[in-house]
Amino acid sequence: MSPPIKTHRSPRSEEKKRLIDGNLPAFHSALTDWFQQKGRDLPWRHTHDPYAILVSEVMLQQTQVATVIDYYQRWMVRFPDASTLAAAPENDVLHAWQGLGYYSRARNLHKAAQALVRDHGGTFPSDPEAIRALPGVGRYTAAAVATFAFDAPIPPVDGNIARVLARLLDFYEPVDSSAGLEHLWETATRWQPERGAGFYNEAMMELGALVCTPRSPVCETCPVEAFCAATDPELLPIKKPRRKTVLLDEHCAWALQDGRVLLEQQTGTRWRGLWRLPVLAKAGKGTPLVTLDYPFTHHRITLRVFPFVMDSGESRQWFSLADLADVPMPAPHRRALKQLLRQAALQG
Ligand code: SF4
Repeated sequence: MSPPIKTHRSPRSEEKKRLIDGNLPAFHSALTDWFQQKGRDLPWRHTHDPYAILVSEVMLQQTQVATVIDYYQRWMVRFPDASTLAAAPENDVLHAWQGLGYYSRARNLHKAAQALVRDHGGTFPSDPEAIRALPGVGRYTAAAVATFAFDAPIPPVDGNIARVLARLLDFYEPVDSSAGLEHLWETATRWQPERGAGFYNEAMMELGALVCTPRSPVCETCPVEAFCAATDPELLPIKKPRRKTVLLDEHCAWALQDGRVLLEQQTGTRWRGLWRLPVLAKAGKGTPLVTLDYPFTHHRITLRVFPFVMDSGESRQWFSLADLADVPMPAPHRRALKQLLRQAALQG
């Protein structure tokens, strides 16, 4: 038997919780009327094309909306459908993704397009299980594509919607625990409208993005305040304790010769296939030419670049300065490269 679910037991919150289940049509109308008037005009909201929605959802997984808009629009021009993406070389796909980070998303999107062509004749399946079987597509993304493209009454519960649900329910179980998450999925499924589920789910997401924000939710202007059981919304959602940040050092070489730069192609899981500054086993001598910090999962990495004499090899290759813009590189190494090229130009 699953453990009992913890909630704040104030009379106000108990009364409000019953309100939503007993008044679903009024709750749906309050939310969707607000969304109709206040929802943002985002490019992927103009389409029901499941491929375009998949692209936007994958991009939005780790990246802010404002950054994604440009990338999404350029991507849809370059790879307008699954067949075009499936046929593109991986280098082109990674290049189009450059700067968005977490490159496994681009590789999986590429593989998903190939699976759509190979297994579905290029037609996107509407069955949520078949969507979920595509490479890189998890429970949330499959639900998002099914509901936004096909209007399926399936809730896409991401961190944003989990926060809104936790507050509406005054729910004090960690939303990233399996018991807590399951309770939220069940509730969100029960609350799905019979018609217009895609629009309703989009409205829930928008509420989390614009009103029921992580810090300082704007309860005074919230369209569903009358239905909300939260007694202290800023305390919610509860999450499991975070992993500690681990500090790491990364040392790389700067080799510039006859107007060419030496780069190394990454072979491991992180950044696989991208070109980066060649790795040094230990720090070079003297002061680094460039030092910069960047985050990676729960790590904080300090990248230091030293002048070094080395030559091309199995995974290392010289690139002319004119070609560098077209080489797919991880964002921190692209930043370091720009600084190094500026310094080299100043030194003549
Ligand atoms: Fe509840 Fe406030 Fe969030 Fe609205 S904004 S759902 S009233 S916590």
